[in-house]
Amino acid sequence: MTVDDLKALVRTIPDFPKPGILFRDVTTLIGDGPGFAAAVGHMADRAEAAGAQVIAGIEARGFIFGAAIAVRLALPFVPVRKPGKLPVPVLAIDYALEYGTDTLEVDPGAVPDGARVVLVDDLIATGGTAMAAVELLRRAGGTVVQSLFAIDLPELGGARRLRDAKVPADALMSFD
Ligand code: 5GP
Repeated sequence: MTVDDLKALVRTIPDFPKPGILFRDVTTLIGDGPGFAAAVGHMADRAEAAGAQVIAGIEARGFIFGAAIAVRLALPFVPVRKPGKLPVPVLAIDYALEYGTDTLEVDPGAVPDGARVVLVDDLIATGGTAMAAVELLRRAGGTVVQSLFAIDLPELGGARRLRDAKVPADALMSFD
């Protein structure tokens, strides 16, 4: 399956969640068995090449791709969660959104010290979410050696922000 085949499986929804936003919806990509398998296969190959020891996924769509990659490589999966979900004392990080702030949390015991972590999410836009997750995983003791996304929106600069912070960033496909 080519990149163009995978791109064709992503549904584009105008004005979601707000007017003026063009939402790239992966529901249709993961809803296609061969497409989902091909996407996960390519991402797992990249994670393996980066020497992943742990796969971390960002709630919620990063869980879908991240957990599937972890299973393919028989590696541990660490959920990077929205606030208030984990039943243990957490490490937390606040990060800026366009309007206001959001928080991500991780179980401080979930990442072995010095582990090579590959961070996964469905999409990177401004990079604010992924940068916060990288910092949180570092505080938990891991080294984020690679970040992987199904989709990059390069005009929003997130992948460049990650690379500037010395975190390699790769995506299966990009949309202008
Ligand atoms: P960022 O922090 O890079 O600006 O935004 C990326 C985060 O917002 C990711 O967790 C991603 O799931 C979500 N996101 C932002 N825009 C889109 C979009 O158009 N489609 C999807 N599927 N997720 C988006």
